[in-house]
Amino acid sequence: MGERVAVETPHPRAAAGRVAERLDGRRLEAVEAVGKNLLLSFEGGLVLRSHLRMSGRWQVVERGGARRGTPWLVLSGAEREAVLWNGPVLELSARAARRLGPDILASPPDTSAMVANLRREPGGRELGDALLDQRLVAGIGNVWKAEALWHAELSPWLRLGDVSDEELERVLGEAATLMRASVDGTRATRSVYRKSGRPCPRCGATIRSRGQGDDNRTAYWCPTCQTGKELPAA
Ligand SMILES: [Zn+2]
Repeated sequence: MGERVAVETPHPRAAAGRVAERLDGRRLEAVEAVGKNLLLSFEGGLVLRSHLRMSGRWQVVERGGARRGTPWLVLSGAEREAVLWNGPVLELSARAARRLGPDILASPPDTSAMVANLRREPGGRELGDALLDQRLVAGIGNVWKAEALWHAELSPWLRLGDVSDEELERVLGEAATLMRASVDGTRATRSVYRKSGRPCPRCGATIRSRGQGDDNRTAYWCPTCQTGKELPAA
């Protein structure tokens, strides 16, 4: 931080966003984690948002070292460089920070503001999809979405219009508790995530999985003890 950085986007999918042209030579002023988002603030008010999902990785190495593969983004300072591998979400804007919802890992998390954000969404939107929307709640990824919904005994397929405020508070509280324990190093047993076809640890029914939302992220759930079990017709 504090240096002017040379910016390259060797990966063609990253190059499409013209990130390098817009950031090259600017001073990197701040780097901040908000939930699982990394926000890099550059002079001139530009903010680059990076979210790694399951596969991405940032690495800080000596400048000009050997590399294998094609990174998404390289920020080079005088001596070191930050290299982003497999950056599925890379968004440059002047307002990226303000467009994120409250951080689920804040202590305490502002669950009433999160509920208010969820309440402003269309009532037909599915709960499991809305919980991954970083504009509403920052920081919940696909693993903890599945686990929090199971703990809260709510189906990912429930429509927001059919979920009470108390139920939203409950699932957000479960997500915050599980994620905080994970950050603190407690190894949690996963109940449904990637357990498709196995028995539910609570009721013994068979756990199911199916893609959900515009990004088709896989939802895992127990069709028996997570209420709102109806699925839309395929
Ligand atoms: Zn169950």
